[in-house]
Amino acid sequence: MRFVEEAVTAPAVLTSPDGAVIAVDVGGTTIKGALVDADGHFMRELARATPAARGPEAVISEVQAVVAELDAAAPGPQASVRSVAVVIPGIVDAAAGRAEYSANLGLRDVPLRDLIESTVGLPTLLEHDVRAAGVAERTVGITSGVDDYLLAVIGTGISGVVHAGGQPVRGASGIAGELGHIPVWPGGEPCPCGQRGCLERYASASSIARRYVEFGGERGASPHEVAARRTSDPAAGRAWHEATESLAIAFVTCTMLLDPEMIVLAGGLSAAGDELLAPVEAELSARVTWREPPPVRLSPLGGRAGLVGAAVLAWQLLGVKAFGRWTTSPES
Ligand SMILES: [Zn+2]
Repeated sequence: MRFVEEAVTAPAVLTSPDGAVIAVDVGGTTIKGALVDADGHFMRELARATPAARGPEAVISEVQAVVAELDAAAPGPQASVRSVAVVIPGIVDAAAGRAEYSANLGLRDVPLRDLIESTVGLPTLLEHDVRAAGVAERTVGITSGVDDYLLAVIGTGISGVVHAGGQPVRGASGIAGELGHIPVWPGGEPCPCGQRGCLERYASASSIARRYVEFGGERGASPHEVAARRTSDPAAGRAWHEATESLAIAFVTCTMLLDPEMIVLAGGLSAAGDELLAPVEAELSARVTWREPPPVRLSPLGGRAGLVGAAVLAWQLLGVKAFGRWTTSPES
């Protein structure tokens, strides 16, 4: 907290700061980490399997190990590490630095920020992964300068970021954007959330793989393999079609409610590219009859939006506000 107070009173803009920050995106299956300089270059990247099955202590230890390894990898004093940002799924109290509840990681009421800060002794920030993805998109991504949009992050689960009038919509209790739990099929599949017919049960990466098997497809196929087989394998065709149709139905609801300038697809599933975009666009167009549907775009950040967002947040924690030199190329 002491650092945050200092940051508020520090000079507002550091134009060309030295050093690097550590960004960590803790997902349900993979922990991704990167050492990122002030121009957005990824100097070092690593990925580890998330040991969620071994319990919360194992997950916390692995995150601490990733941060320590990146800290040790900083190449000399000119790239010494200055701050850390960790982003996680679930319910996050960013101000308190607590992981309140994260089903995918098995975390409940964990002071994760302080646990990491004590590992490396650097100012550390904890944020929700999808909010971080939203920060990445509006700072260095496709929605930079766009006031009204919906960002749909489709990975193991589905979540969304809504921007209206240039501001993120957080909601009365801070959990607006639960796109994955919009019911798209009344009386449909039961969802672990307690509702039925939720979008996430049809269109998340894990649900596509699960439903492909339920329809008679091969066990162990990735969502991308399901997409690639959609014209040759009826089970793949059905799983993929119902996923893209479900997304389009949810986007009709969002279009009517929000009138967005664009809908952006991000997260791991967006790597499917046109195989995802084309049917979603077609289904949305077919369903919106009396007005123009908003354009649907693929995020250039794709599955790295959360990690890039963590890097932006880590630099913002140091008072940096200029990100004009960052590119969105995956090679950067
Ligand atoms: Zn649900």
